[in-house]
Amino acid sequence: MMLNVDVAENLRAIKDTLPDGVRLVAVSKFHPVEYLEAAYTAGQRVFGESHEQELTKKQAALPDDIEWHFIGHLQTNKVKYIAPYISMIDAVDSLKLLKEINKQAAKNNRVIKVLLELHIAEEATKYGFTPDECRRMLSEGEWRSLENVEICGLMMMASNVDDEEQIRREFLTAAAFFDEVKADYFSDADSFCERSWGMSGDYGIAVKCRSTMVRIGTAIFGPRVY
Ligand SMILES: *Cc1c(COP(=O)(O)O)cnc(C)c1O
Repeated sequence: MMLNVDVAENLRAIKDTLPDGVRLVAVSKFHPVEYLEAAYTAGQRVFGESHEQELTKKQAALPDDIEWHFIGHLQTNKVKYIAPYISMIDAVDSLKLLKEINKQAAKNNRVIKVLLELHIAEEATKYGFTPDECRRMLSEGEWRSLENVEICGLMMMASNVDDEEQIRREFLTAAAFFDEVKADYFSDADSFCERSWGMSGDYGIAVKCRSTMVRIGTAIFGPRVY
């Protein structure tokens, strides 16, 4: 299969602009396995997918040393399929989902890393905890008893707008909220350290707003064909 984008070159160009310490999740959803193989050959080991069946197929077809992130909205009834191998579930948006991940992780004798998804953007359709919902969930404390999940930080998507100032404001709101939650609940937990924001259109702004983990698809693999 001839790819119509230079995946290796795109990866190199993006990595050149990422500050040290910012990790790149290559978002490969909707792209055929050949595109992932091109990225793998170029050294990429962290991939993000957002549909369980597609991920399960790709995981079976590709090398074992890939770190798979589930970046989309995850239905609780799908957790069991990915629990054996998933490295991180990036978009936990309810206590119910967190509890199900804990249960399935325990069944597989492992601890699954997760990020809590924040809803700060103006779009009504986006999933995630508002800051108040997140505060409430953490203060109620049930999450503390979930021994098979490790909450590693926060994830969010900025509004899909051209206004860079608005995007910057949203990222900075998320960064300030990270500091609050870190101080209030995770000051002893070194593992609570990730701030996952920034996609193809806004990762340059995100890394200036303390992102530690960008999730980039289109700028690596080209436009998705749905
Ligand atoms: C698809 C997706 C991305 C990547 O988007 P691009 O604009 O293609 O870089 C990042 N994060 C999430 C949650 C996504 O669903």
